[in-house]
Amino acid sequence: MDTVSLSGKELAAAMNADTRARAVALTENATAPHLALVVANDDPASAWYVNSLRKAADRLGIACDTIDLGPSADAATIRAELSARSEDPGIDGIMLQTPLPAGVTLEEVSSAIAATKDVDGVSPLSLGLLAAGRPGFAPATAAAVVELLDHHEIPLAGRRVVVVGRSNIVGKPLALLLLAKDATVTVGHSRSTDLAAITGSADVVVAAAGRIGLIGGDDIGEGAIVIDVGTNEAPDGAIVGDVDAESVRGRAAALSPVPGGVGPVTTALLMRQVVIAAEVRHSG
Ligand code: NDP
Repeated sequence: MDTVSLSGKELAAAMNADTRARAVALTENATAPHLALVVANDDPASAWYVNSLRKAADRLGIACDTIDLGPSADAATIRAELSARSEDPGIDGIMLQTPLPAGVTLEEVSSAIAATKDVDGVSPLSLGLLAAGRPGFAPATAAAVVELLDHHEIPLAGRRVVVVGRSNIVGKPLALLLLAKDATVTVGHSRSTDLAAITGSADVVVAAAGRIGLIGGDDIGEGAIVIDVGTNEAPDGAIVGDVDAESVRGRAAALSPVPGGVGPVTTALLMRQVVIAAEVRHSG
């Protein structure tokens, strides 16, 4: 079987063109969209990601501040910064970068981000709004998976979808978004027994565990659609996903590549959410 590559590049380019036009319109009205990136680590992968977000914002006409609190910031300091940015009338969107300092959990600090500015949907309130089907921002990575499937016209209603990973920023919100699309959703995790049997009977498998090679050809059914969310650093420094692409190719009907699949759509979505936050804030 030929395995189709579910690229995210064309979709991201189309989204970015729309975002840029909307950012220009906001700027012409003296309400240029403005993102605050709050960082509290000295992790090289995070620094690389922050840099790529800054470049993306710049290309799209979104102003972007980076607030570096350092790797030893405590929860109170991070919360105070997030509260201040939430109240700052010059800021439309706030993104809190991970990893956080040792001992600080995302849940305890992210609740200080105002829901209207929580453009990466990380706060418990945003997750609750998503669970209840109320308007709010979904985490960009989770939403990017659904956008990518929609773009490639892969139907979800009534289909068996298995998400591997249950974090509050990827697996759990993704399960909620898929449910809202009428998929029959199963969530696997590190304590699941016989995960291969679960993924093997799915129409769509989404790997979001952060484990190189977790999903191979033997873990999927013939003709399955496979979405790889993983972004892991291989021993040789290359960025690789959770899926062993070589063994899955030829058995899956379609597979999203890493890099070039979910990643570019995630960044495009995050930027679009900043512009939406600005539009909503300046419309009222
Ligand atoms: P977390 O580490 O927070 O969560 C990982 C999840 O995977 C947990 O639920 C864990 O289970 C589960 N898991 C770990 N090992 C296994 C295993 N052997 N079998 C089954 N389940 C397992 O990661 P994130 O959710 O933040 O990120 C997941 C992946 O997505 C990472 O590779 C990350 O880099 C990537 N990512 C990609 C983005 C993109 O734009 N493409 C953006 C954000 C993340 P348990 O709960 O039981 O511990």
